[in-house]
Amino acid sequence: FAGDWQFIWASPSIETLPPMQGLEVAFAGRSNVGKSSLINALTGRNALARTSHTPGRTQELIFFEGPEAANFRLVDMPGYGYASAPKAKIASWTSLIHNFLQGRSTLARVYVLIDARHGLKEVDQDVLNTLDKSAVSYQIVLTKADQVKPAELAQCRIDVEAGLRKHPAAYPELLVTSSRTGAGMPELRAAMIKLIGE
Ligand code: GDP
Repeated sequence: FAGDWQFIWASPSIETLPPMQGLEVAFAGRSNVGKSSLINALTGRNALARTSHTPGRTQELIFFEGPEAANFRLVDMPGYGYASAPKAKIASWTSLIHNFLQGRSTLARVYVLIDARHGLKEVDQDVLNTLDKSAVSYQIVLTKADQVKPAELAQCRIDVEAGLRKHPAAYPELLVTSSRTGAGMPELRAAMIKLIGE
């Protein structure tokens, strides 16, 4: 995983996606869940994904290419669920994601990020429903684990696991991470390397 990661493509619509090539892993989550921080921590590039203070402004799929030239890409999906989003914006997010998930045969997994302080919200459930309808495997990643006490983290795991029972398509194992402490990053990298190898 170490090495040069670079931005290669930003796509505001399904018509402008990069050609399918190699393997892709995508990251989704509510805005402010810590998605940019996680991508930066994973790749060791501090400013690869912009950490944004104006949530939800960009409705784009952002593609990053890894060191194994042209063989592995990370896809940063637009954040969802910010409180003031107009209905039309939610609809355009859902449509972009739905269309992206259909027939993207290079997409090996979607990681859905959930803030360990907040757990699964209704808007996350909606996204999981969208994922259930696609053929792509997905897995939950808890973020900001450094922000909760061990007992709260354990409760969050129990609650999220219970919520996942409605989504048999979800990979059952949760990954627990903190971009701040680096916790869970080796496990997440290992999971991706395993995907590449499969
Ligand atoms: P995004 O909107 O999902 O891309 O979220 P960002 O990565 O921009 O993070 C949102 C806020 O959460 C920022 O203030 C980050 O510094 C903070 N944050 C992200 N990850 C962590 C983490 O693992 N631990 C802590 N304590 N804060 C985090």
